[in-house]
Amino acid sequence: MATGPMKTIGAGEIRTDQVGDTVTLAGWVARRRDHGGVIFIDLRDASGIVQVVLNPEDAPADDDVLHGLRSEYCIQVTGTVRPRPDGTVNSALPTGEVEVVAGGLNVLSPSAALPFQIDERVDIDESKRLQYRYLDMRRTRMAENLKARSKAIGAMRRVMDRDGFLEVETPTLIASTPEGARDMLVPSRLRPGKFYALPQSPQLFKQLLMIGGVERYYQVAKCYRDEDFRADRQIEFTQLDLEGSFWGQEDVLQVLEQIVAEVVKELRDEEVALPFLRMTHSDAMERFGTDKPDLRFGMEITDLSAIFADTQFKAFAGVLESGGTVRGINGGQLELSRSGLDGLVARAQELGAKGLVWMVVEEGGTLRSPVAKFLSESEIEGVRTALAAGAGDTLLIAADETVAVAKLLGQIRLDVGRPEGNDELAFAFVVDFPVFDVNEDGSLSPAHHPFTDPGDVATLVNSPETAVSKAYDLVLNGSELGSGSVRIHDPEVQAKVFEVMDISDEDAESRFGWFLEALRYGTPPHAGFAIGIDRFVSILRNEPNIREIIPFPKTQTGADPLTGSPSRVDEQQLDELGIDIRPEVVVSWAEEEGVDQG
Ligand code: ASP
Repeated sequence: MATGPMKTIGAGEIRTDQVGDTVTLAGWVARRRDHGGVIFIDLRDASGIVQVVLNPEDAPADDDVLHGLRSEYCIQVTGTVRPRPDGTVNSALPTGEVEVVAGGLNVLSPSAALPFQIDERVDIDESKRLQYRYLDMRRTRMAENLKARSKAIGAMRRVMDRDGFLEVETPTLIASTPEGARDMLVPSRLRPGKFYALPQSPQLFKQLLMIGGVERYYQVAKCYRDEDFRADRQIEFTQLDLEGSFWGQEDVLQVLEQIVAEVVKELRDEEVALPFLRMTHSDAMERFGTDKPDLRFGMEITDLSAIFADTQFKAFAGVLESGGTVRGINGGQLELSRSGLDGLVARAQELGAKGLVWMVVEEGGTLRSPVAKFLSESEIEGVRTALAAGAGDTLLIAADETVAVAKLLGQIRLDVGRPEGNDELAFAFVVDFPVFDVNEDGSLSPAHHPFTDPGDVATLVNSPETAVSKAYDLVLNGSELGSGSVRIHDPEVQAKVFEVMDISDEDAESRFGWFLEALRYGTPPHAGFAIGIDRFVSILRNEPNIREIIPFPKTQTGADPLTGSPSRVDEQQLDELGIDIRPEVVVSWAEEEGVDQG
């Protein structure tokens, strides 16, 4: 670690090699044991921890200074490195074979009483941790996460550099771009009544860079999306954003593989097996009920509709008659009690499903199930064969419209099958996304941003629900790490897509006229991607939430307990912006959150 006049070595770097050396250390008092005579402290700095012995007989400082030392005082110590006496070696600590006997001690900065102990073993309420993030990051967990994040970004940059990508910054005060979420807006003082948007991503700017001849671009980019809060979302987050010209999908996927391999090597010292699986979107939906399958385990969804084509079981027959489907998974040896099985049915209902049928295969092949009496021998045999079921297996079957069944079984599969504490990394690319997602009520919503190559334009126009785009996602252990696409480079196609996506000519012209114009000047074919850095690092670190990877995140309600954002601004600032705040909107959120409106 960097040293300077204030320290000659990092606390965590001292080993037996330094025995006999005089060292100067600077850092914090992590722990202090004052036995009335000799004082032992654990001195912590960014490099780690070392034990320091303060013996009043050596007079490293005045007695009141020595005995006044408290946790998290920032101090400087000069002393001699010696081996720890027999029996006191601490093998849990990299510096555990040595200690520093202080000859001099200097308090650089005392610490006020702490709001919580800086100790890994103490559980602290997250809002407290965020309010005192600067103390929280003195703890190993956050300190290590910050290092991992930095290393991950370093590894990404290495690959980008090696492959000749140019790092280009794009503006963060821009005109609104559709990425599917709400924009965060910034009012303009010089043009009152007008607003900048913060970028949901640098999408159109990176495309302009391709038109500008850059050919290979990347950026570690802050993105902003004004979305409702979900456990694993933040309104601002960081992407590795990249784009290349004269490229197709496979070129992008291969660069991504290199990036992922480098990051995993850096953070986990593991080689990932390349190439990653490429799975079509429809395959993922059929087999796993989701576009981000967790491939660490099988338990695939199987279509059982044909088996029940002539069934007497009314619930299944009705669904099949109305064009629905019957599908199931083999949950394996779940060994659930009756109430455990009923719990799964309740869970299905909680997920919005009408129901879930369970069947337990008994010795001899009979089925124990509330619906067994309605099923014929051949149906039972058919289900057992289709789901490769053996004695003791629990089979879970759903009947409904296709999208609903996929959603339900996709989630139940995760509930019953997801391996706990499994450290494996299962990467895959999901390719051939549809242009539109079909909602449960049959309506369509764009699956990607409207700059994605929609494939065959005639199909897009004539049967939009079947149109397949050149969009792809990178998936890791059931999470989407990022997405990208081959872009439209023909202004006519772009205009057509706006039309199909119900963006009117005038709207397209007023919002993206400048971009349609740019596309007319010899736009190269291009494609790209963006990886969510926060999520990627959180999974590699086995962290349950991206907030653990973000140095200063917002809470789930979008607030920052440390700085108090979002906050009120002065009347004068509002005046300059030409903004009046309607009192009733303030009253409504304040009531919701139970805060004083002053
Ligand atoms: N801009 C897209 C996003 O943020 C990624 C891409 O298509 O490159 O999801």
